[in-house]
Amino acid sequence: MLILQDMRKINIIGSGFSSLSAACHLAKRGYQVEVFEKNSSLGGRARQFHKDGFTFDMGPSWYWMPDVFERFFASFGKQVSDYYELERLNPGYQVVFGKDEVFPVHDSIEKIADRFELEEKGSGRKLVSFLNQAKRNYDVAIDDLVYKPGVSPLELITPVTIKNTGLFLTNVRKQVERDFKSPKLRSILQFPVLFLGAKPEQTPAFYNFMNYADFGLGTWHPKGGMIQIVNAMVSLAKELGVCFHTDAAVDEIITNNKKATGIRVRDKIHEADIIISGADYHHTESLLQASLRGYSEAYWKKKVFAPSSLLFYMGIDKKLDNLAHHNLFFDVDFDQHASSIYDTPEWPKEPLFYVNLPSISDQTMAPEGKEACFILIPIAPGLDDTQELRDKYYDIVLFRMEKLTNQSIRKHVLFNRSFCVLDFVNDYNSYKGNAYGMANTLTQTAFLRPKLKSKKVKDLYFTGQLTVPGPGVPPALISGNIVADMIAPI
Ligand SMILES: Cc1cc2nc3c(=O)[nH]c(=O)nc-3n(C[C@H](O)[C@H](O)[C@H](O)COP(=O)(O)OP(=O)(O)OC[C@H]3O[C@@H](n4cnc5c(N)ncnc54)[C@H](O)[C@@H]3O)c2cc1C
Repeated sequence: MLILQDMRKINIIGSGFSSLSAACHLAKRGYQVEVFEKNSSLGGRARQFHKDGFTFDMGPSWYWMPDVFERFFASFGKQVSDYYELERLNPGYQVVFGKDEVFPVHDSIEKIADRFELEEKGSGRKLVSFLNQAKRNYDVAIDDLVYKPGVSPLELITPVTIKNTGLFLTNVRKQVERDFKSPKLRSILQFPVLFLGAKPEQTPAFYNFMNYADFGLGTWHPKGGMIQIVNAMVSLAKELGVCFHTDAAVDEIITNNKKATGIRVRDKIHEADIIISGADYHHTESLLQASLRGYSEAYWKKKVFAPSSLLFYMGIDKKLDNLAHHNLFFDVDFDQHASSIYDTPEWPKEPLFYVNLPSISDQTMAPEGKEACFILIPIAPGLDDTQELRDKYYDIVLFRMEKLTNQSIRKHVLFNRSFCVLDFVNDYNSYKGNAYGMANTLTQTAFLRPKLKSKKVKDLYFTGQLTVPGPGVPPALISGNIVADMIAPI
């Protein structure tokens, strides 16, 4: 007998990775899915900017945890290589600690351990044992934890996590400082948790699995940039029957008797059985009448958000020297900058910054002989954002970059576009202009994060970086998968 598929209708707000993942999973499970994106292009924060033959990923640029991407495409009988070409970078990245003080992070644990040894005697062996534990945590996280819906504390209790309770009671910083004395090694080992949006001392040591993701699994580059992941997911979604609407900002979530029944885009109502939002959680709740919101303004104010950022996208008329595809400028005090983000929100006096030069390993990103350069300074969300401040920080980072890498850069800049707090708010409806959601601190982890399922409105769900599992592209893919499992378990 022919069983008719469930063609219940789902409207999804936003087209970031979490929404695209939810759309693919639910379309495969027989739902009729439509995605509504306020911007003219798809992919959320992973948009691209093109100018004069230069290509910039405007948001994410680090491709980590390749296994999560493979697992996503495998759910549909596909593989990453069906859609884009991946290259493991060597070095994965380099850290600039001063003039002629550059630490390359190579593409194997052995090479990295050898480099550690040069910096601090005995640290290579310690690194290997640290990474063995980090790998065990990574396996537990991926196999048992991050795909859980964050509904109950019991989700965190597995035989392995019970054995490792201590890792939830201590933090990444303490653990790193116990084993490594060199300030350089300490900052390299604490860097990966910045992806989780919080300070190392606020992040449970269990999250040292990010160090395994970094050194063990490596840093990769999709040829053509991170937009390739978006293109792949959109192509898969279309193949599965998902319909996309761009320039379609959702103005209201329609409810009837505390049940979501549709969304309004300008003056048109699009009815559906279920609504999912991958837009910023705080913004999504503002699309509901106040009595139907699950979290108060006071709740959001108390939360630790991931940083916002000041970004520069620059076309450079020559190839740059002494730089890699990914470069971290850690030549100033890490703690002071972190404190200006998390303790006393203010513009950092001496900023750490990150420089991305994808054209070093991918010729498609810039015209021949030129460099596409993207600079990121993490800052506290909600700071004042003026042209004067943007100009001031442009001067600071270019001066330091020129000095530390021993070359002139400023006079070779063909154009420079900046992007900061106000743009995050305008372009993505982001709470206080956060760049990548809500931090994963001990009190904002798993079941302690904003819920995937609305507490007050039936058939309204959330996905993305403000809910579980947290910030980053791989977690966004996972978040969409989890919400799909909640709606239509398999
Ligand atoms: C500068 C920067 C660098 C980053 N670097 C990395 C990195 O290197 N590696 C990594 O893994 N992660 C990185 N991240 C984090 C990663 O990009 C995000 O965590 C992830 O892309 C978030 O996906 P999402 O689906 O949760 O949300 P988003 O990508 O924010 O998608 C939400 C979408 O909803 C849309 N929207 C908002 N309101 C409405 C509305 N009313 N109606 C319709 N649509 C609406 C928005 O326009 C947006 O497209 C970075 C982020 C930024 C900003």
